[in-house]
Amino acid sequence: MNIGFIGVGIMGRPMAKNLLKAGYALTVYDKYAKLDDLVALGAQAGASNKDVAAKSDVVITMLPNSLNVRQAILGQDGVSEGARPGTIVVDMSSIDPDAAQEIAAALKAKGVAMLDAPVSGGEPKAIDGTLAIMVGGEAASFATVKPVLEKMGGSVVLVGDIGAGNVTKLANQIIVALNIAAVAEAFVLATKAGVDPEAVFNAIKGGLAGSTVMNAKVPMILNGDFNPGGRVELHTKDLQNVLDTGHRLNVPLPLTASVMEILQALISDDMRGLDHCAIVRYYEKLAKVEVRKSAAR
Ligand code: NAD
Repeated sequence: MNIGFIGVGIMGRPMAKNLLKAGYALTVYDKYAKLDDLVALGAQAGASNKDVAAKSDVVITMLPNSLNVRQAILGQDGVSEGARPGTIVVDMSSIDPDAAQEIAAALKAKGVAMLDAPVSGGEPKAIDGTLAIMVGGEAASFATVKPVLEKMGGSVVLVGDIGAGNVTKLANQIIVALNIAAVAEAFVLATKAGVDPEAVFNAIKGGLAGSTVMNAKVPMILNGDFNPGGRVELHTKDLQNVLDTGHRLNVPLPLTASVMEILQALISDDMRGLDHCAIVRYYEKLAKVEVRKSAAR
């Protein structure tokens, strides 16, 4: 099976590397990022999104947002121009569920199947090949690509029809955003009250408040390491999709709306490119305290 991989940024690059390690023939393309390290590992460099599709049975996309995915798949020199009836497109980006359905409908008219298969776990799990992958689409296409997805994921679950993958990702992103905000609020309070935040982390991470978010983000915060990871601007995009979907369905989302405003404050404070654990910086500014290891203060 020949696989195409489009979008080799923070997440796509290690995911593509795991497919190469598993022995798949891979054609890779990115509009801006370099491909040298992937070519050194045996990948073929594609000339365009169309070229990748023409050389592949399965085309994976891992791009920032709905607009990028639409352009890469349906735009000029896009995947749709190179794909043949029977090609399967697997979009692993986090996008608006409605956009996933619209793009899939346009591909279906050409006999091309699409799955939406966003991921959770961030860069560390992309590197380890242990991402949580939530998939929407037809069961037959899912069965064909499941072995491929399993090389990148620790869990690969078909959750429903096309768009259901991204609905599941929206639920995931509410929980991650609110969890980071809760961790930030709690650790700022403890630090301001004079307790060493590293000791707080060690004391509570094994209890009910412990979480994958806490384990991933508190060590970064303690070290003052805000390199992404998951960028503030991408999580803002996700919460915008959450709020749009909620408003369409008349579902009130008061906590998501509050965290969205915190992310807006970070963006207006030039922090859009930082990891989303920079949510703690919003609280730190208000409380005039920094949640750092004593050595990093
Ligand atoms: P990124 O910005 O690091 O990588 C995206 C890549 O897509 C870039 O290299 C860019 O050059 C390329 N690109 C953009 N438009 C293109 C086009 N038209 N054709 C070809 N290439 C194009 O982003 P990322 O952090 O890897 O995230 C990718 C997706 O995964 C996003 O939807 C994000 O929300 C989601 N996600 C990210 C994380 C994380 O922790 N970073 C975790 C889970 C999910």
